[in-house]
Amino acid sequence: MHIMVTNDDGIHAPGILALASALRVLGEVTVVAPDRERSAVGHALTLNSPLRVFELRDGFYAVDGTPTDCVNMGIHSLLPFRPDLVVSGINHGANLGDDVTYSGTVAAAIEATLMGIPAIAISLATFDRIGHFPEAAQVAVRVARQVIANGLPEDTFLNVNVPNCPDIELMPPLITRQGKRSFVGNVIGKTDPRGRKYYWIGSGEADFNDYEGTDFHAINRKHVSITPLHLDLTNYESMKVISGWDF
Ligand code: MN
Repeated sequence: MHIMVTNDDGIHAPGILALASALRVLGEVTVVAPDRERSAVGHALTLNSPLRVFELRDGFYAVDGTPTDCVNMGIHSLLPFRPDLVVSGINHGANLGDDVTYSGTVAAAIEATLMGIPAIAISLATFDRIGHFPEAAQVAVRVARQVIANGLPEDTFLNVNVPNCPDIELMPPLITRQGKRSFVGNVIGKTDPRGRKYYWIGSGEADFNDYEGTDFHAINRKHVSITPLHLDLTNYESMKVISGWDF
């Protein structure tokens, strides 16, 4: 069993270290991750500059690129074998609902899925500096065990979110659907010391509709949320509607 681990928080993030060491009970683990934080780069691929790789220690490769670059580098260049599983995380912060499209953590799992390799994205639902990463890493091991034993449906990966609480408070996993944000973020404009305007994209507080069956609803009640996501974004229902238009 050969497992490749990546993330978007960078190779020095506490989440990836907890994940890589926990997954060692299942097989050989190779880490290929960005050399710095690349959160919210989505599924970006570096095409206009070369990529450099630094082997920090045995089985730990830092790439000066995106999570998607890392999956490509790992599978097509650095790993001696095609991995049996790719696990991305543990992201510092939840990846729920519509936010998954921004996520580099999720994009790495998408890239592996495109290559036909089973993949899991895993995130810890907190922005606190101290997170329960060891507990989330144990969740990753349990989910990985099931993926290895059962395989995944075609075109599908698992987006796992873990509430930030000690083991004893953690509720059993729920299979969920993607939730919806209840408001859109804002842009904050300020003036720099030279009198020029600058802007920050502000996401505000993560706020989701608390609908039953969603990833957010589960996390909000201390359940581990497991959402099977697939890559086909086609809205099949609306194909019928659009087909009736006079193009
Ligand atoms: Mn991140």
